[in-house]
Amino acid sequence: MTDTGDEDEDSLTEADLDRIAEFAATPEEDRDPDDLVPDRDAQTTREARESPVSGSGGDEGRRDAEGRGQHRGRTDDARDASRRQADYCSSVRRDMSDASTAREVVEEYPDLHVSEIMRHAYGECECPTDEPPTSSPVISPEECREFRGCYREGLSVGDISDEYYRADNSITRHVFGRCSHDTRPLDQSREEVGADLCRRVRESFARNDLSLREISTAVRLRPAVVRYHLAGDCPHSTGPTADPDPPDGP
Ligand SMILES: [Zn+2]
Ligand SMILES: [Zn+2]
Ligand SMILES: [Zn+2]
Repeated sequence: MTDTGDEDEDSLTEADLDRIAEFAATPEEDRDPDDLVPDRDAQTTREARESPVSGSGGDEGRRDAEGRGQHRGRTDDARDASRRQADYCSSVRRDMSDASTAREVVEEYPDLHVSEIMRHAYGECECPTDEPPTSSPVISPEECREFRGCYREGLSVGDISDEYYRADNSITRHVFGRCSHDTRPLDQSREEVGADLCRRVRESFARNDLSLREISTAVRLRPAVVRYHLAGDCPHSTGPTADPDPPDGP
C-alpha cells in the first residue's frame, strides 16, 4: 500500500463508508454535514472514535458553543471527509489496477466488505477522485489453471468464484476453456484416474451442457481418458455414464 490513509481506512466501518459515499453523492449545496455523523450519540461517538469523518477530533463542544461558527466548522469537516473518501477510493482503484488478482486487493483491506471494495474499484461510487475506475484484474494463465484445479478437486463454479472474488461467468468461461489460455492436460493415464475424479467427471458432464473437450479442459485430462471414464469402460461404478460424442446416424 502506498497510500497515506491506511490507519484511517482500518477504522472505517461499512456503515461509515455508506454514509460517506451517500454524502459525496449529494450535490454540494444540499449536503448536510450531520449526515456524516453516526445516528446514535453522534457527538461523543465522533470524539471517541477519531474516525476520518471527524478528522479534527474533539473540538465539537467548543464549536457548539460558538453558535453560528459551528456551521462553517462542520462544513470544513465535511470537505475533509469528502477528500479522505476520495483518497481512500483512489487507493483502492490504484491497488486494483496494480494487482494481478482481485484476491490480493481484498486481502489488503481486511476490515472492508468485498462488495464495498469492488464498488469503489469499479467506479460504482460517487467519490470525487481523478483516479479512473478499474476493471477486475486480468485473469492470468496461472489463475486460470488454478480455477481448473479447483474444479477438478470438486469445487463448484460458485465456490471458485467466492474463493477468487471473480464473477461466476468468468469462472465458467475459464474453467471450460472458453478463453485464450493453455488447455494442455495433465499427463495422466486412464488408470491413474480414481473413483472420486471419475464421479466428478460423470456428474459434471451430466449436469452441464458440455462437450467432451470442455469437460476435459475443466478436469485437465486428455479427452480419451475422459471418454473412457464417462462411457463406463472403467472399473468405477459411481455416477451416471454417458456417451460424450454419439456417432452420427443409426
Ligand atoms: Zn469510491
Ligand atoms: Zn483461462
Ligand atoms: Zn471411471
